[in-house]
Amino acid sequence: MADANTTKPSVVLLTKAGELMEKIVSLCKRRGFIFQSSEIYGGLNGFWDYGPLGAELKRNIKEAWWRSMTQFRDDIVGLEATIIMHPKIWEASGHTSTFADLMVDCLLTKKRFRADQIEPQSGIAYSYTGATDGASGKESKDSFSVLLPPGKPPESARKVAKQFYQLRGVENATLLGERTEQIKDTTRYNPENGSLLTEPRPFNLMLETYVGPVKSDENKSYLRPETAQAIFVQFKNVLEVSRQKVPFGICQIGKAFRNEINPRNFTFRSREFEQMELEFFIRPDEATEAIYGSIATPSGPGHPGEPQPNWGWQMWHQYWVEERFRFYENIGLPRISLVEYWQKPDELAHYAKATVDILYKFPFSKRDDKGELMGEELEGVAARSDFDLSQHQRYSGKSMTVFDEELKAAWPKLDDAKKSALSQSYFESRKKYLVKMGESEPKAEKQARDESEALSKGYYIPHVIEPSAGVDRLALALICNAYGEDQAPDEKGKMETRVVMKFHPRIAPVKVAVFPLLKNKPDLVKKAKEVRDLLRPHMSVFYDEAGAIGRRYRRQDEAGTPFGVTIDFETLGEKGPELQDTVTLRERDSMKQDRVKIADLPQRWRATIR
Ligand code: ATP
Repeated sequence: MADANTTKPSVVLLTKAGELMEKIVSLCKRRGFIFQSSEIYGGLNGFWDYGPLGAELKRNIKEAWWRSMTQFRDDIVGLEATIIMHPKIWEASGHTSTFADLMVDCLLTKKRFRADQIEPQSGIAYSYTGATDGASGKESKDSFSVLLPPGKPPESARKVAKQFYQLRGVENATLLGERTEQIKDTTRYNPENGSLLTEPRPFNLMLETYVGPVKSDENKSYLRPETAQAIFVQFKNVLEVSRQKVPFGICQIGKAFRNEINPRNFTFRSREFEQMELEFFIRPDEATEAIYGSIATPSGPGHPGEPQPNWGWQMWHQYWVEERFRFYENIGLPRISLVEYWQKPDELAHYAKATVDILYKFPFSKRDDKGELMGEELEGVAARSDFDLSQHQRYSGKSMTVFDEELKAAWPKLDDAKKSALSQSYFESRKKYLVKMGESEPKAEKQARDESEALSKGYYIPHVIEPSAGVDRLALALICNAYGEDQAPDEKGKMETRVVMKFHPRIAPVKVAVFPLLKNKPDLVKKAKEVRDLLRPHMSVFYDEAGAIGRRYRRQDEAGTPFGVTIDFETLGEKGPELQDTVTLRERDSMKQDRVKIADLPQRWRATIR
C-alpha cells in the first residue's frame, strides 16, 4: 500500500464563524481558489479573481447548471447575449428609475452604509445645536447627535460630538444646547461610533459607460446589472428559431455588474459577478383553464413531479423551487444547509406573485433566536407574471404576444359563463398592470379589453417563472460547505490536523490525482504517465511526482480532489502477477485505499463526476 494513513478521520467542529471564515479565505488564497483583484496595486473593493482551482470549480458549477437546464431537458434552450445593451432596456425593466439601494453616510467618518443593513439599536441620543470656540471665535450651528448604548458615560458622546465640530473648524469646541432622549430600535446612527447618519438617499447600482467616441448623454449605456433582460428582449427571436412552444424556457449564464454600496463577506456581495438565469415562459392561468377546464394547483409541499399541461403558475413555481433544491443537493449542498424563504407580501416586487429565496447557511449568516444560522440568498425563484414581456412590448412597440393553437381551438367550446369569467379575470389583471405603469384609466381599460378579446382568439403575453442564481455565491457556498478539518496520522504515524475540501466529485476542480510512488523509478513514472493519459479524455487529472506520497495526498485533500491513484511496485507486477496493472486508489474523505484495475478506472467514476 502506498500510504499507511487509513485511519478514519475524526471531525473537528469549527464553531467560531469569524475564525472559520478567516481559515476559508486564507485557504482560498493559499491554494489558488480566489485572489483579490488587482492585488499588487492594493486590490479593488468588490472585485475578485479565480485562481487555477477556483476557475475549474466555477466552470464545473456553470457546466452542471447548463447541462441540467439544456442537455437534460427538451423544453429549455440557451442564449448568450452582450453585457452592454440598448439603454432603453433598463428603462423598460425599471432599473434606470428604481434599481437603487438607500445609502447613508456617517457624519463623522463619511463611511457609507446600505440603510437596510444597519441593525436597529437602542440607547440615549445626545443632541447638540452647535458648538463654539471661545479662543478663536469660531462657531458651528450644525446640529449633531450621538447615540450611546445604555450604561455608557455621557462623556463619550461629548467626545464624538467634539470630533464632529472639530471637522467643521471649531478646534476647542464648547458644545451647545445638549439634550438627551431615550430612543428604541433606531437605524439612524452609525453602529460603530454612535454618530448620526445622513438621511437615507437612493443610489443607483448600475455601472455607467459610454458607447462610441463621445461621452454624451445620448451615448450613455450600462453594464448589465442582471442577465435576465436579454432573454426577454430576444424572446421572439428565440421562439421563432427554436420551434419551442409555451411552456418553455430560455437560459443564460453571464457576467453582471452592480455598484454595490458596501461589498462584503468575501465574494458574497461583489461588484462584478456571474449569474445563471432561467426565464421559463408559461401560459397565463386563464389560457390553461380555457384549454383544460381547470388548473392544477399544489396539493402540498414537495416536488410536484413531471410537468403536466394543466399546471397553473403556482405548480410551475413550486416545481422550479424544488428542481433548484434538487440541483443544489446534486452538487453536494445538503438540504439542511439550505433554507426555503418565502418573501412576505411587503417584500415582493409589485408585479411578483410569489418569490422563494433559496438561502445557504454561510458561516457569516445571522443567527435567529434559537442560535440557528438563518442563511443568505443564493438564488431567487420568482413568479413574475407577464410584467417583463409587457414592459418590453410597451417600450419597444414590438408585440410580445404568442399565438396558441390549442387555446384558439378550445375557446369556442367553452360555455358562456366560463368565457365571460376568464375574459373578465384576464381583463382585470391586464388593466391593473397598465394602470400601475401609468396609463390613464380609459386607455388602460380599452387596451385591456382588446387584449382580453385577443385571448379568446389564442393570443397572449406569456407569464414567467424566473430561477435566478449567482455563480460566485454558489462557489463560495460550496467552498464553505466543503471545508473540513480532521486528525490524521502523518508519515511517521503522528496525528496532525488535515485540511480537506470535501467537494462533491461533480464540481471538484480536479477529479483524480495520479502519482508514481517514487519519482526516481522510470518504470513507475512511465506507467503513471500512461494512466494519466488514459484518464485525461474522461476527467480533469492532476499529475504529481514531487515529494513524499503522504504530502502529495495532503495537497490534493486541500484542493478537494476526491480520488488519488498511486502507481506502485504492485502495478509493475513486482509483487506477483495477480496485482500487475492494478493501482492503489485512495478516497479523499475516508482515506480508505483499494486496489483497482487500471482498465476499470475510466468508467469507475462516470456517474459521480457528471
Ligand atoms: P441581494 O438582496 O443579496 O442584493 P438580490 O435579491 O438583489 O440579492 P437578484 O437581483 O435576485 O439578487 O439576483 C439574483 C442572484 O444574483 C442572487 O440570488 C445572487 O446569487 C446573485 N447576486 C446578486 N447580487 C450579487 C452580488 N452583488 N454579488 C454576487 N452575487 C450577486
